Formats: sequence, C-alpha cells, structure tokens
Amino acid sequence: MGRLYIETLSGPKIFKCRCCKVDSASHDNIVSKNFQGRYGKAYLFRTVVNISLGPPEERYLMSGLHTVNDIYCSSCQQILGWRYEKAYEESQKYKEGLYILEKERLLKEGW
Ligand SMILES: [Zn+2]
Repeated sequence: MGRLYIETLSGPKIFKCRCCKVDSASHDNIVSKNFQGRYGKAYLFRTVVNISLGPPEERYLMSGLHTVNDIYCSSCQQILGWRYEKAYEESQKYKEGLYILEKERLLKEGW
C-alpha cells in the first residue's frame, strides 16, 4: 500500500468520504447525477481523489457488460463505488475512465 498521502481539494463544493471525512471528489467534476449504484443513487465523476482501485472484473450493470474496478477510500478502505475500465457497447464508451461514487457513501460538508 505504501505511505498514506491525503490530497485536499479546493472549492466550495467537495464530497467527502462519509466514514473518515477525507476529500473524495469535487462537485465541478460531476459528469452526471443520474446513476444507480449498489446502494441507491450514485454520481458519475470525471476524476476523484484519495482512492485505491481493486482488480479489474467483468460485471453486468444495468447498461450491459463492463470491465470495472471497485473504488476504495484510500484512508478508511470502505468501498465508495467503481471505475469504468472498459465498456463493450458503443453507446456506453463515454464512461471509460470515469468514476461512480455512491451518494450514500459520501458526505456534503457545509453546502
Ligand atoms: Zn474514507
């Protein structure tokens, strides 16, 4: 795992890990709020911080077969969502390299 390095985001609207409260993503990096995660509503982000990726695995999601990596908070190790490594359907290709974070696992602090 190496040494733990926590990145801090700037800006008025930051999503934090609900469990340990380190920064996870900026509101500015939301691509879509209209996603469904394992635990309910989820957001699609262009970039996130303070995460570690699990091994790639093939998974059937509502939008078809994808290769995804689970995303863990690098501070507390709770699962936050997943990253789209590869989409097989042409219409889903835009998701490749993007990140899903579960709303339920996030905290909005001060906004
Ligand atoms: Zn955490």
